[in-house]
Amino acid sequence: MMLVRLDGHSVEARRVFCIGQNYAAHITEMKSETPDSPVIFSKPSTSLVLPGTKIPFPGHGNELHYEAEVVVMVGTEGRPEHRDDARRFVGGVSLGLDLTMRDLQKELRARGLPWETAKAFDYSAPVGEFTSDLGESGLANISFTLRVNGEVRQKGNTGRMIFDIPTILLAIGRVWTLLPGDIVFTGTPEGVGALSRGDRAVVESPVIGKFEWEIAVGCEA
Ligand code: MN
Repeated sequence: MMLVRLDGHSVEARRVFCIGQNYAAHITEMKSETPDSPVIFSKPSTSLVLPGTKIPFPGHGNELHYEAEVVVMVGTEGRPEHRDDARRFVGGVSLGLDLTMRDLQKELRARGLPWETAKAFDYSAPVGEFTSDLGESGLANISFTLRVNGEVRQKGNTGRMIFDIPTILLAIGRVWTLLPGDIVFTGTPEGVGALSRGDRAVVESPVIGKFEWEIAVGCEA
């Protein structure tokens, strides 16, 4: 059982869904094509990593990429009926990193194979504390940044998503009944890049908070 934090309490995490290719400038930098519906994949809940935990550099690839993302926690069981109905399934919002072995992902994609080993490995889903209170800004205007060793690498705003958060929940809910504690990584903006051993990654949003993780120096993976 994996516990995450919501408004200062522990909550059991259920499944971890992720959305790929959800910001135009990231699609361009990846030389991908704009999808006509949300691209959904998943990670096991055992890939979640709470803030402050050291992340071992994976032993099965060479290029560990950060992808800073807004992360949604589902608060209600059911299947949204339409986009506006989907909003009531949001139980909390946080920030996280969809860590990716980019060299392995490129190789798997080129061969038309599933990319689990590149995306769903141990420690691949660092996630911060969730908040249920976004104040005035709402789901469609969450700005966030990622700094690595103090340098800004990514800047995003949920207003620039191709598929917004209600649309994402509607799409997932067409396939899976949403459950409280389900966690959804909503896609990364442009600026993805590599992390090295000893790097410190800090994600921050004025409406959510600030969370950090360090890549371990040794070869613990
Ligand atoms: Mn991602």
